[in-house]
Amino acid sequence: MPENKEQKLILGVDLGGTKIAAALATAQGKILARGRSSTRAQAGPDVVIKSICATIDRTLAAKRLKPSQFLGIGIAAAGIIDSDKGKVISSPNLPGWHEVPLRDAVEQRFGIPTYLGNDATLAALGEWCFGLKKGIANLIYITVSTGIGGGIIAGGKLYTGACGVAGEIGHMTIDVNGPKCNCGNIGCWETLASGTALAREAVKQIREGAKTSIIELVNGDISKIDAKVVDLAAKQGDELAKELISRLGYYLGIGLVNLVNIFNPELILIGGGVAKMGDLLLQPAIKIVKERAFSTPANAVEIKPALLGDDSGILGAVAFVLERSKNYRR
Ligand SMILES: [Zn+2]
Repeated sequence: MPENKEQKLILGVDLGGTKIAAALATAQGKILARGRSSTRAQAGPDVVIKSICATIDRTLAAKRLKPSQFLGIGIAAAGIIDSDKGKVISSPNLPGWHEVPLRDAVEQRFGIPTYLGNDATLAALGEWCFGLKKGIANLIYITVSTGIGGGIIAGGKLYTGACGVAGEIGHMTIDVNGPKCNCGNIGCWETLASGTALAREAVKQIREGAKTSIIELVNGDISKIDAKVVDLAAKQGDELAKELISRLGYYLGIGLVNLVNIFNPELILIGGGVAKMGDLLLQPAIKIVKERAFSTPANAVEIKPALLGDDSGILGAVAFVLERSKNYRR
């Protein structure tokens, strides 16, 4: 039975709008077992919480572990999270969630100290703790998928802000006359540089008569166009798709310019489904940073794909337990 804190186990949970992923891990970030289920978000908080607990049960099945063998359970959830109170204040991906005391519900069920944080913020912590080969004091992690989220490590620690909700970088205004955002504002970064933005622009161009193979890939059904389809068309050499992704990279770069000037990070890691588009997206973004950011921070920053892939959320939740229980790996 492990007595030392470093030998204790941590359970990480990544709660998203479509799936719940859980992993049993060591304090060094080695994953020992995994569990997964669909969120069934439309069924509301009670059903989702039951589903989280069942996913944890399945992850731990056959392990015969006692609560005393755990350092804690970490939960990374999408939305506005009050980590101190352990509540999901609201979440665009979880209908009906308002001030839901998720942390206490899980803690009571398993009798293990539980911690709750925003998924993108914790992903930054996960990349920082377990992805990097060497210590870095200033890091920004950005996830680009249907929206844009992120987390900031500044001066060697997670930057959480006055109310614990810092890092909502997807909602910085990039174009005051831009598209309407789900948050209610106009021209937020994620309305211009996310997968949703890419699909929207593809549909617009097709409706205006652009010649492209994108429409053939969805058998003529314009409603089926998403970022993945545009990426596939680009990989097959479609000129419009390549141009749209390059344009997305331009807007990604505009937001990065702001972050580079404000935070002067050593490293920016870009994760999320859209980041899998690779150089076609990243090279235009990096070019804009070189052109527009102040040269001192622009020369100091490295911008590259995130290191943990789809595990950044889970390992972020694991890292959050380590951080909250004051047991940093390094
Ligand atoms: Zn917004």
